[in-house]
Amino acid sequence: MQQDTRPLLNQAGLLCNQSRMSIFITCPNCKQQGTTKVEYKSGSGTWCCCFILFIFIFLICWIPFVNKKCQDANHSCLNCGVLLGSCPYKVCG
Ligand SMILES: [Zn+2]
Repeated sequence: MQQDTRPLLNQAGLLCNQSRMSIFITCPNCKQQGTTKVEYKSGSGTWCCCFILFIFIFLICWIPFVNKKCQDANHSCLNCGVLLGSCPYKVCG
């Protein structure tokens, strides 16, 4: 049996449409109200951004890796730690 590992609140990009920053939410897992914990991670968009920059100006291609705007934002519950949603950074489409 396959487990559904999709984040709980990712439908229609709910979290990403509002903000890539921490938002106030009721956790569907533990029913606690609180703000989401946001972690930024380099994703495919980060690499893509790096690649584009590399073509033009190779000296600054590391910027996406230190710029949160160019990284995936993962929202998780502060109370139970469950992953609520992920907002991938997209640069190539
Ligand atoms: Zn929770």
